[in-house]
Amino acid sequence: MTDSDNPNRAIAQALNSWRLSGLDQMPQYSPELENNDYSLPPNAECVTQNKDVVNANNGTSNEELSNSEFRIPNSEFTPALTPHSSLLTPHSTNAASSFNMTNNNLIESSDPVEALAMLQKRVAQCTLCKVLPETRTQTVFGVGNPRARLLFLGEAPGADEDAQGIPFVGRSGRLLTDMIEKGMKISRDEVYICNVLRCRPPQNRNPLPEEAAFCRPFMEAQIKIVNPEFICCLGAVAAKNLLQTDTSIGKLRGTIHNWQGYKVVCTYHPSYLLRNPPAKKDAWIDLQLLMRAMGLM
Ligand code: SF4
Repeated sequence: MTDSDNPNRAIAQALNSWRLSGLDQMPQYSPELENNDYSLPPNAECVTQNKDVVNANNGTSNEELSNSEFRIPNSEFTPALTPHSSLLTPHSTNAASSFNMTNNNLIESSDPVEALAMLQKRVAQCTLCKVLPETRTQTVFGVGNPRARLLFLGEAPGADEDAQGIPFVGRSGRLLTDMIEKGMKISRDEVYICNVLRCRPPQNRNPLPEEAAFCRPFMEAQIKIVNPEFICCLGAVAAKNLLQTDTSIGKLRGTIHNWQGYKVVCTYHPSYLLRNPPAKKDAWIDLQLLMRAMGLM
């Protein structure tokens, strides 16, 4: 069997080459990978513990939400969308100062705008994954406020995102915008949005574990550059990859998790909500949990 026939060995070699090149955020390879076709990197440094538990149902209305859009009960869409703008200012005016950026070769500037631009250039040239560099139209990096207090983490680009190079611009993207703007009453421009993967998987399949492992340093660097106070994981793939857990999205909901000091709320992916409109009620409960934690309600 050649190395290319053994994906786990290929992963190990790639991880080693990343480490040798000085990247200190890579998960460590473990032989356990040999026996697990879909495990997450076992020694990744992120740890999740349910430290702050908040009852997601306190004071929540259970009225039906619209099937066609994310409409909160008894609420109309308002073009002026910034009643909470003052609460969305970054929790650190110098986000970079919270991290030892000099030890992370992917973060080349203490200025978030410059650091993101430099990281985006690296991502655009990335060919780490076996298939995705051949099938992508372009990489899809991230969009939004580089000093956002809230970061949304999705799964991977879809066809629309692959075509435009911007995350969440298709139908599910429009629903996410409604969730942010109609539900949370904040502007989409005030948050930051990125994915676990920066390249579209063929046929929109789930990211392979090795693809998520390859792209993780980019994801972690993006998060650390933006340095949000809150992260909202959209769907099981985002939640499981960020938190390094096999717990179902259903069980991850309703709790504020801690990942490397960031407060993490998990909810359903907008594409799931489009397929299962009744679940919008649950997503609204999750957003209310997030809004209460952020002091937005
Ligand atoms: S998904 Fe991430 S790691 Fe894989 S090729 Fe694209 S940018 Fe590189």
